[in-house]
Amino acid sequence: MAEAHDALPLHAEDDLLAERKRSLDPENGPEDWEQLRAQAHRMLDDMLDYTRTIRSRPVWQPIPDAVRARRTSLVPHEPTALAEVHDEFLRFVLPYTAGNVHPGFMGWVHGGGTPVGMLAEMLAGGLNANLGGRDHIPIEVEREVIRWMSAIAGFPSESSGLFVTGSSMANLIAVIVAREAALGNPAHGCRIAAGAKQLVAYASTEVHGCVGKGVEIAGLGSEALRLIPVDRRQRIDLDALAEAIGRDRQAGLTPFLVVGTAGTVNTGAIDDLAALADLCQHEKLWFHVDGALGALGKLAPELAPRLAGMERADSLAFDLHKWGQAPYDAGVILVRDSVAHRHAFTLSADYLQRAQRGLAAGPPWPCDFGPDLSRGFRALKVWFTFKVYGADALGETIAQSCQLARMLERRVNATPQLELLAPVELNIVCFRYRVRENPEKSPADSENLDAINEEIVVALQESGAVVPSTTRIDGKLAIRAAFVNHRTGPAEIDALIDGVLACGSAIEEARNRKPVPRD
Ligand SMILES: *Cc1c(COP(=O)(O)O)cnc(C)c1O
Repeated sequence: MAEAHDALPLHAEDDLLAERKRSLDPENGPEDWEQLRAQAHRMLDDMLDYTRTIRSRPVWQPIPDAVRARRTSLVPHEPTALAEVHDEFLRFVLPYTAGNVHPGFMGWVHGGGTPVGMLAEMLAGGLNANLGGRDHIPIEVEREVIRWMSAIAGFPSESSGLFVTGSSMANLIAVIVAREAALGNPAHGCRIAAGAKQLVAYASTEVHGCVGKGVEIAGLGSEALRLIPVDRRQRIDLDALAEAIGRDRQAGLTPFLVVGTAGTVNTGAIDDLAALADLCQHEKLWFHVDGALGALGKLAPELAPRLAGMERADSLAFDLHKWGQAPYDAGVILVRDSVAHRHAFTLSADYLQRAQRGLAAGPPWPCDFGPDLSRGFRALKVWFTFKVYGADALGETIAQSCQLARMLERRVNATPQLELLAPVELNIVCFRYRVRENPEKSPADSENLDAINEEIVVALQESGAVVPSTTRIDGKLAIRAAFVNHRTGPAEIDALIDGVLACGSAIEEARNRKPVPRD
């Protein structure tokens, strides 16, 4: 190898380097700084206009084949002017997003984002901070926001916490911390996944799928999560839970974790968190709350009392990209016992040596509390969002989204062709279109009804007017409207009701005209 280096005299290589002195910054690239500045301002203005005029666009539209086909596997080896790439973005990316910025979006549980969040993302990109560790102010900003989040959740100020991609990751981290605490594994020790103890976790049948996935990723096996039935309000059945724990103990298994949900993804149901806290205290189990959707309800005085007990959890997962209106992605995990949290994730390595002074100071680092080492500055958009709008205004938008859900509930109940399928607990309404009685031509069997409601939802999505999604409640296909976006108002409720009725009767008429089902 030494010969290979000698082939080019060292000084010649240095000369070549000095001549090239290229970076990716404008003075050396295809643009100069003034050109870049002008283009940057255009890009910023375009995105502000996009948000300002969002109502003039369809919520969502299908991607034309020709647009999809533009996305190729050809690596762009040659440079393209920024303005040209931006033009491609404006024409072939921007119009074909999911539409969750639009007030007519009420599918799944998506946040609407804000212009302030967008600007903060730009600043974070400019700083290009790596929040894995070390002693720099972005980490202090993240710690500050985590302290705000602890205060909102009612957790003690010395709780640990971390920004992560979302609640899927936050729930996974909680399962792993709970597992390590149950196994009594030492920090830096050989962490064992399942162990001989046969750990068992509990949640309701309405728990989000990511919790089961987390239990599996944590190496506990898919059988290790017991799904406990729910009551009529879709809350975990406490008697059934206590029984299951007793049964498992008798069988020699080790119950270790109960996951309560603050706002189920299906219907917005809130488990009785205070009762779960009591039970976990009594049974000495880790109490985790999946508050992905609902935890920020603490910001709305009318909702906060319904979350009582959440502040007693050992850990709490929630999203800022849903009700917090921060741009994707931003979730938080809070852990009451910061030592248990750190023990589950900390590792030592020579290249991550901590110091008393200098840039390598400031332990523990965020990388000691989760699986990621390199991490972006997610906290900045939340810092801006809370500072600029104020927590109270966020609480108001949260309360408003629940008021919209109750408004839709009233409209559904007042409309004979519509039927409510689940009690409205929070910001989610599950309902369906009912077929008019026409027993000869169209027996309204449940399969038929499911198909019609599915078709209504697809038709509404394709109309671009409103975007609800679907779920199943007691086996019945439901049209599901989740109000998360702060821009959504009564006009969108009108559009949804009108749209469902119009699509429903059009589909029904089309079906009645044909004696044979379409498919
Ligand atoms: C959205 C959601 C999740 C998953 O969170 P992500 O941020 O999408 O990873 C988990 N639980 C509930 C109740 C949710 O609403």
